[in-house]
Amino acid sequence: SIKGQYKKYFAYYDDVLRRKLLKEQEIVDSMESALNLGQFEIYLQPKYNIRYSRMDGAEALVRWNHPQWGQQSPAVFIPLFERNGFITRLDQYVWEKVCAVMCDWENRGMPPLPVSVNVSRADIYNVDLADILTGLLRKYALPAARLHLEITESAYTENPRQIIETVSNLRELGFVVEMDDFGSGYSSLHMLHKMPVDVLKLDMKFIQNDPVTPVNQEIMRFIINLADLMSLDVVAEGVETAEQLERLREIGCDCMQGYFFSKPLPVKEFELLMESADSAVQNAYAGTHSDD
Ligand code: C2E
Ligand code: MG
Ligand code: MG
Ligand code: MG
Repeated sequence: SIKGQYKKYFAYYDDVLRRKLLKEQEIVDSMESALNLGQFEIYLQPKYNIRYSRMDGAEALVRWNHPQWGQQSPAVFIPLFERNGFITRLDQYVWEKVCAVMCDWENRGMPPLPVSVNVSRADIYNVDLADILTGLLRKYALPAARLHLEITESAYTENPRQIIETVSNLRELGFVVEMDDFGSGYSSLHMLHKMPVDVLKLDMKFIQNDPVTPVNQEIMRFIINLADLMSLDVVAEGVETAEQLERLREIGCDCMQGYFFSKPLPVKEFELLMESADSAVQNAYAGTHSDD
């Protein structure tokens, strides 16, 4: 009967929902101790400039190494921590780890590679944000330009007035600000023009568009040209194939991040990649183009 079917349907969703809530409660119960026990680990993913065949920077992405559940993706726990406020503490932890790594690179005479950290929408409302970030630079003797801040497009549109105030101040202090997941939200071109930002990170939906149509390609070309007009740099995210790389090169987008080059790596592995960076990028796209 229909009634019986509904019953089964709701029983199923009840169960799914209950298990989801249980898991969320477990995550929330263990987040504090996870931070104290050092279970959060920084991974680094390179950004490459294909025009100069060199690594241009990296993005820091957090992982949770849980002793029972295994490694947890930020996609699982970040949205939860954004809702309960814990994200501001986790982000500060990540930023400090990243500064400590860059300071270590300085001491070892390694190249001064800038690293981007993600700044949650929740951090934007923290009145101490600028003090915390400049405090870290002072502690680890780093110039502000070494630390890039990624803020999602949706955080920009959520509260433009707050963003303009907070982010303008951060840029005046020397931080480089990148608008993350650009094109996935609802910012108008009119608004983009007025927003404090240095770099657009093209959302991977554009790059991974399947099937590729001439219209897709022209939309990307339009964004690249527009960014150029506004003196913004562009980084393409989610580049996985040589074909995608070629399409981006064709429209003049030189800066890329994605599995095609490398997945996010633990810091020690990333350092090995840094040491062989030139050969790595040359290998990565050897054969995809004849030298120009
Ligand atoms: P995001 O900042 O846009 O980071 C890019 C995501 O795309 C990362 O996922 C990265 O591993 C993934 N990715 C990179 N290249 C490719 C590719 O070629 N193909 C595909 N399919 N994916 C690729 P991840 O590490 O799972 O992080 C997910 C999101 O979680 C991030 O998106 C960011 O919004 C958030 N997040 C990660 N770490 C932090 C953090 O420390 N603080 C805050 N507030 N958010 C973070
Ligand atoms: Mg990001
Ligand atoms: Mg990103
Ligand atoms: Mg993104």
